[in-house]
Amino acid sequence: MRVFKFGGASVKSAEAVRNVAHVLQRQSDGPLLIVTSAMGKITNKLELLVDAYFHSKETKKMILEDVRSFHQEITAGLQIDEFDYYEVENLLIELECIIEKKRDESSSYDTEYDRIVPFGELISTKIVSTYLNKIGYKNRWIDARNFVITTSKNRAANVLWDESVPLINSSLKPLVERQTVITQGFIGRGLNHKNTTLGREGSDYSAAIFAYALDAESVTIWKDVDGVMNGDPRRFDDAVLIPKLSYNEAIELAYYGASVIHPKTIQPLKNKDIPLYVKSFIDPSMPGTVVLENASRTLNETQCYIVKENQSLIKIASKDFSFIVEDNLELIFNAFNKAGIQLNLMQNSAISFMACFNADELKRNALIDLLESKFDVEWSMGYTLLTVFNYSDDKNQLDKVVASRKIALEQKSSSALQLLLVD
Ligand code: ADP
Ligand code: ASP
Ligand code: MG
Repeated sequence: MRVFKFGGASVKSAEAVRNVAHVLQRQSDGPLLIVTSAMGKITNKLELLVDAYFHSKETKKMILEDVRSFHQEITAGLQIDEFDYYEVENLLIELECIIEKKRDESSSYDTEYDRIVPFGELISTKIVSTYLNKIGYKNRWIDARNFVITTSKNRAANVLWDESVPLINSSLKPLVERQTVITQGFIGRGLNHKNTTLGREGSDYSAAIFAYALDAESVTIWKDVDGVMNGDPRRFDDAVLIPKLSYNEAIELAYYGASVIHPKTIQPLKNKDIPLYVKSFIDPSMPGTVVLENASRTLNETQCYIVKENQSLIKIASKDFSFIVEDNLELIFNAFNKAGIQLNLMQNSAISFMACFNADELKRNALIDLLESKFDVEWSMGYTLLTVFNYSDDKNQLDKVVASRKIALEQKSSSALQLLLVD
C-alpha cells in the first residue's frame, strides 16, 4: 500500500489536473491512497474570506465569487459535466451559507478559520476524484475528517494517534485495499466534532499520518521541483538535487526552512521506517530524492542553503540589570511558549537576549505584553535567516548569498552556520 500526495501546485489548473492523471496512469498497480491539497493558492483566498467574514466586510461576496469562478474554470477545463459538477457546487453553496449567516459573536477567529478554509481541500479532492473517475481511473472520495482525529486547537491541531490509527486501520484500510482512495490533506476533526486544520502547508504531514496508520510501504510527495535540492531552486539557480537523505538530515533541512517538505512529515515515517520519495510531477521519470533511515551521512560535503524570510528580531534586556541566566531565561522561554511562537535563532549576553522568529502581529504583541513588566523589549522586522549546512571555509558562495546585507546575528556549530540578515 502506497500513499501519494499532490500539493497545490500540482492541481492549480485543468492542465495540471490532467497531468496528475498522467502521473497516476504511469504508476505500477497496487493499493493507493492519494492525499491532495487545495488547488493553487486557493487557501490564501480562503484566508481572505475568513478575514472578511469575521470582520463583516462587504468584500466577502467578491472573494467567494472569486473562489467559485476559479474552481468553475478548472471543472470546465476538465469537461466535468453538470451532473458530476453538482457535488462541487454543493460544497460552494455550503460555504456560501456559512458566510451569509451572521457570525456567532462568541466564536473565535481560529474556529471560523477551521470552518471555512477546509473547503479548499474538500472542493479540490472532489474535482480531482470526479475527473479521474470520468477518465476511467476509478477511485473513491473519502472525507479525511472522519479519520484524522485531533486535539481541538484550531489552526494548529495535534493528531490524536490513539484515536486516529485504529480508525484508519479498521475503516479506511479495507477501502484502500479495494480501490484507490482520494482524500484531503491538512484537515481533521477535533473530539468536539468540529473541523480542525494542521497548520499551513500541512498536507505533506497528512500523507505521513495516513502512511503511518496504514503501515504503508512508501510515501511519495509530488512537487514542481526535481526533489530536495541543496537550496530552493527559485532562489539559487545552481541548486543541485540531493538523491538521498537520512530522516535526521531531512528533519533538519525542513525544520530550518527547506519548505519542499513540511517539517512534521518525517517523524511518523521515521517511526515506522517508511521511505519518503520527493519526486517531480513535471518529469515523473526522474528519480527524485529518497529519504530513508540508512541513508545517513549522504549530505556529506554538500553545502545546503536554507532561507527563511519574514523574521522579526527581538532584543530583551532585564530592567534591573540582572543577568540573563536560568531564572530570566525561564521567564523568557515561558513567554515564547505562551504566545505560541517558535524561536528560530537565539543568542544571549550577560544582560540581554536576542532571538529571531516568524510570527503574526497578534502573537508578537502577546509576546511583548508577557515580557514587558520585567524586561525592556525592542523589536524590528524584515530579517532573513540563512542556514548553511556543511559550511565550508570557501567564502565565495556565502558572500554571493549575503551580498550587501548586514549580519544582525551569527551562530556557528560543527554542522551549520546561521546568519540573520537585514538589508
Ligand atoms: P506543494 O505544491 O506540495 O504545496 P510546495 O510549493 O510547498 O509544494 O513545495 C515546493 C517548492 O518548495 C518548490 O517550488 C521550491 O521553490 C520550494 N523549495 C524550498 N526549498 C527547497 C529545496 N531545498 N529543494 C527543493 N525545493 C525547495
Ligand atoms: N492548502 C493548505 C495550505 O495551502 C495545506 C497544504 O497545501 O499543504 O497551506
Ligand atoms: Mg504547499
